[in-house]
Amino acid sequence: AKAKGRNTYHFYSQDLDAAANERLYIENELRTAIKMKQFTLYYQPQVNSETTEVVGYEALIRWFHPIEGAIPPSKFIPIAEATGLIVELGAWVLEEACHFSRRLKTAGKIGNVSINLSARQFKDAQLIKTLSDIIEKTKIEPTQLHLELTESMLMGDVEAAIAQLKHIKSLGVSLSIDDFGTGYSSLSYIKRFPVDILKIDRSFVKDIPEDPNDMEITAAIIAMAQKLNLQVIAEGVETEAQMAFLAKNNCYIVQGYYYSPPLCEADIFKFVPTI
Ligand code: C2E
Ligand code: CA
Ligand code: CA
Ligand code: CA
Repeated sequence: AKAKGRNTYHFYSQDLDAAANERLYIENELRTAIKMKQFTLYYQPQVNSETTEVVGYEALIRWFHPIEGAIPPSKFIPIAEATGLIVELGAWVLEEACHFSRRLKTAGKIGNVSINLSARQFKDAQLIKTLSDIIEKTKIEPTQLHLELTESMLMGDVEAAIAQLKHIKSLGVSLSIDDFGTGYSSLSYIKRFPVDILKIDRSFVKDIPEDPNDMEITAAIIAMAQKLNLQVIAEGVETEAQMAFLAKNNCYIVQGYYYSPPLCEADIFKFVPTI
């Protein structure tokens, strides 16, 4: 049965452990899903807690599989990354999110659009061309576009990373460090990267106000961001107490279930301008 190849994974599933089997299944289904357009983007509002104004939206991919139902990004993004399929999928995300940005503007709504970039996409030599083509095609304001990168993507060849960041910035696009605090970068590096925003990872926010260590770390990240002239956004804000702690420590832009989960585009357009 093995000789029949990929599509016959059922025949040798007993040879593989369940995780490897699932991986193979998802890899196969991903190829079909890209062709069949089974993906959609949801958008999570980023809210200024002082004014309750929506200042931006993070695009988060959703896969609605005809048989499996919703497959979470944590299950398929790493596989898309490992197989290289993320470059094609990521280009689709970029274009779709820019069309959304254009539709927001047409509807008279304000707000930036943030897009998650994967390591492969960031290192892809074609990225700048892909980006500039999409910006031109969708006629969006590049300053309204924010790209989210993680610290680990910037490690390794730091000089190459800085050069790539500069290329992206030259298009007028803003850059965020996602999941900040969870990577291995040292603070002295952060200063060298031409980035605009730090996003405090949910792992630091989730146990506020019970965990004094997390509160210290969160306050320190905010203070450091201010010293470096970076904007700061907190992710995973679920409670009023978390929002209030962040505001007290000068972080006013928050994202999380406290204000809104990620929503489909139709719901975003139903959303009143202030929450
Ligand atoms: P992330 O970039 O850190 O995105 C935040 C995740 O936290 C999202 O999960 C979001 O739905 C979830 N979240 C938001 N607010 C709350 C909250 O208050 N509480 C809790 N518990 N969770 C909250 P999601 O959508 O499942 O995405 C998971 C990860 O998958 C993302 O983490 C990102 O790394 C990746 N991802 C999602 N969409 C894309 C994409 O288009 N491209 C790439 N390369 N990666 C993506
Ligand atoms: Ca993100
Ligand atoms: Ca995160
Ligand atoms: Ca992330």
